[in-house]
Amino acid sequence: MKKLLKRVFFVEILKALKLVFAHYFVKEVTLQYPHEKNIFPDTHRGALCLLKYESGEERCVGCDLCEAACPSNCITVVSAVEEKDHVVRRFATDFDIDITKCVFCGFCVEACPVNALGMTKMYEFSTPNKRDLIFDKTKLYDVGEKWYGQAKGYLVAHNQEGEDEIVSEYRYRFPSSRKPENVVETDG
Ligand code: SF4
Ligand code: SF4
Repeated sequence: MKKLLKRVFFVEILKALKLVFAHYFVKEVTLQYPHEKNIFPDTHRGALCLLKYESGEERCVGCDLCEAACPSNCITVVSAVEEKDHVVRRFATDFDIDITKCVFCGFCVEACPVNALGMTKMYEFSTPNKRDLIFDKTKLYDVGEKWYGQAKGYLVAHNQEGEDEIVSEYRYRFPSSRKPENVVETDG
C-alpha cells in the first residue's frame, strides 16, 4: 500500500525537486575559471622564484643547500666567487629548477640561509612545451620581481622573515682571512 501511494504521488520525484530547490539557497563553491580566480592564503606553495635585496643585489650566495634539501633532485646550482671593491662574494652563475619534477614541498625555501628563494601564488604556467618548465636563473628572478609581495608574504607566513625585517644582515661575506686570490668556479 505504501509503495502504491509513493508511486501515485510521485514521492521520489518530489524529493528530488526539493533537493534541487534547496540548492538554490546554498552558497556556490564552484568557481567559473578563468573568469573567476581562487584566493590563496600567504602560505600557498605556488611557483618558485629567486629574490634580490632592496639594492638590486642578488640574495643567492650559491651555497647549494636548496639543491641538497630537494627531495626531487630538480634544482641545479653552479656557483662561483668574485671580488669587487675589496669584498669577496659567492654567487650562483647558473640556477635551474625543473618544475616538471617539483612537488612544491617548500624544503628548498626552508633550507636557504639568506631567504633567496620564495614561493608565489602563481599557478598559471601550463605549456605544451615541457622545456618551458625548466625555470632558469633569469626566469626565477623575473618571477621574484613580478610577485615580490607574494614571495615575501610566504616567507613571513612561514616564520622565515619578519614583517618589516630587512634581511641584509643575512648577507654572507667571506671573512677576509679566507679571501681567495682569484675568482674560482665551483660546480655545485
Ligand atoms: S619545492 Fe620541494 S621539490 Fe620543488 S624545488 Fe623546492 S625542494 Fe625541490
Ligand atoms: S637559493 Fe639559497 S640555498 Fe639555494 S644556493 Fe642560493 S643561497 Fe643557497
